[in-house]
Amino acid sequence: MKYDFLIVGAGLFGAVFARQMKDCGKKCLVIEKRGHVGGNCYTRDEGGITVHEYGAHIFHTSDKRVWEYVNAFAEFQPFINCPLANYRGKLYHLPFNMNTFYALWGVNTPQKAKDKIAAQIEPCAQPKNVREQALSLVGRDIYKTLIEGYTEKQWGRSADKLPAEIIKRLPLRFTFDNNYFDDLYQGIPVGGYTALIQNLLDGTEVCTDTDYLENREKYDALADRVVYTGALDEFFGYCKGYLEYRSLRFETQRLEEENFQGNAVVNYTERSVSYTRIIEHKHFQPSLCVPHTVITREYPAAWEAGKERFYPVNDAANTVRYAEYRRLAEGQSKVIFGGRLGLYRYLDMDDVVAEALNLAEKLK
Ligand code: FAD
Repeated sequence: MKYDFLIVGAGLFGAVFARQMKDCGKKCLVIEKRGHVGGNCYTRDEGGITVHEYGAHIFHTSDKRVWEYVNAFAEFQPFINCPLANYRGKLYHLPFNMNTFYALWGVNTPQKAKDKIAAQIEPCAQPKNVREQALSLVGRDIYKTLIEGYTEKQWGRSADKLPAEIIKRLPLRFTFDNNYFDDLYQGIPVGGYTALIQNLLDGTEVCTDTDYLENREKYDALADRVVYTGALDEFFGYCKGYLEYRSLRFETQRLEEENFQGNAVVNYTERSVSYTRIIEHKHFQPSLCVPHTVITREYPAAWEAGKERFYPVNDAANTVRYAEYRRLAEGQSKVIFGGRLGLYRYLDMDDVVAEALNLAEKLK
């Protein structure tokens, strides 16, 4: 065989795996059906502004091994994600914290905020849907202002019809801390994620615009093992039915003005605004000084064949279907499945790096 590993997909998983294998002397070929590497982390340059093409990506982790690993391939610009929510023109800080409670009710101490929330909570021993779940956790004002419309848009269904498990926890923070993530480390690679992925792939053969499934036999014949990071159901010809996803549509605009919204991420939480958020990419690079800006409106969309898969719908029916595909996957001796699509799981980037490092360790 010409290669030890054929890696299908040049996303973060494929790139980390390829680097680890290359560094221990294995020969790898990476094939990628898109015209670029990077998968959903892909970024491109627009006049100095790093545009996050498939949604805003902030690297955050508490895993020191992962943090040190990615820092070996890119310099990270420290960045603290402090998103805002816009509800009927008024702005609220996220995650729910003292700044949010002050904007909602004018309360200026943690105790006053706790009293307000306690008075609004609607206890429910066994919530049947998102509405009951959220009302039992945070009460009416937070639910109506910041959760209901956003969640309904994101999942394309009314909160009464969404399973309670979609919302497991709704952390309330009784400090004036707008940092969205609790992790020890947080940042964005200087030059964008594409530069990070290119560094990971440096020295490995990569073919873009190459779809494995269009000529599976030819590609299989090139390598001893295949690491496949595409969609699991697609690999098996959808023989057990579709694994469902939610998709997104992005509308990106360059504006000849310096500052559109003053923050990287603003969520729109009311139902009547059809997008869920606006990203202003330049604010991920706080030191950047250019006279223009680039914004992206993010619209949730139903998934159908041919659209990008974004969020797996991990409800009961899809969990059963996934288990059936898993059984088929375990019967494959040559192919190993990885990454967010191969595992049918929402994975943050640090999880993806950890999973790829673990797999590489096993196969060295
Ligand atoms: P992908 O990036 O999807 O890579 C898989 C690659 O395989 C793709 O490039 C695909 O084209 C290719 N492929 C598929 N099938 C084939 C085939 N048949 N032949 C050849 N190539 C194929 N994580 C964070 O940590 N922080 C964030 O802020 C964050 N923000 C996010 C925002 C959004 C809107 C979304 C949806 C996700 C976000 N994530 C974030 C998660 C992050 O995007 C993923 O962890 C990461 O992209 C997964 O990498 P991957 O390699 O597993 O998959």
